[in-house]
Amino acid sequence: MEPTNLVRLKKYQMHQKPHLPTKTCANCGKPFAWRKKWQKMWIEVKYCSERCGRNKNRLA
Ligand SMILES: [Zn+2]
Repeated sequence: MEPTNLVRLKKYQMHQKPHLPTKTCANCGKPFAWRKKWQKMWIEVKYCSERCGRNKNRLA
């Protein structure tokens, strides 16, 4: 393999998104990915957004 191809491969791998844990929103059912703001409470996160968290009471 030529060196230029190796560089391209390396750049390609760097562009891949890091593997983040995902969950399914308990309100809208859409999958959402881990966010830094949830790093200390990811286990407790059930909704993809604050809006979904608020809507849960109305939908019941
Ligand atoms: Zn949602």
